[in-house]
Amino acid sequence: MAVTRTLSIIKPDATRRNLTGRVTQMLEEAGLRVVASKRIRLTRAQAEAFYAVHRERPFFASLVAFMTSGPVVVQVLEGEDAVALNRRVMGATDPAQAEPGTIRRELAESIEANTVHGSDSDENAAREIAFFFSEIEIVG
Ligand code: AMP
Repeated sequence: MAVTRTLSIIKPDATRRNLTGRVTQMLEEAGLRVVASKRIRLTRAQAEAFYAVHRERPFFASLVAFMTSGPVVVQVLEGEDAVALNRRVMGATDPAQAEPGTIRRELAESIEANTVHGSDSDENAAREIAFFFSEIEIVG
């Protein structure tokens, strides 16, 4: 299995509850390495662009409002098959469906305020990483 990268976002529900260290520790303990990280406040335009694929979904406006409601920490994670590994440690989108020990099961508040985002494919990971980071900001 190759070492690859994925994009993680620690969402506003987690920054509000001061859980960025706890989330990062769970990612690192799962075998992921943080090779880039920054804390930012998304503008509405940025959140709409990032989640453009969900534009037609009924939860889109609420999702954009939530993602702009406080700071987020965007991170590039590196590891063996990083997209799949990160999705395993995150757990299912709905925390009620997530496996015990996953970030969302242990920490998430709701299906919307679900603590973390993770890319769902290598192609989307590359696109999402480029959305937030330039190559010189990523140091493995
Ligand atoms: P994803 O691109 O799969 O991460 O989905 C985007 C985000 O939209 C999820 O992580 C949730 O925060 C939110 N979301 C997904 N499904 C729902 C839903 N049914 N109701 C509210 N929010 C949702």
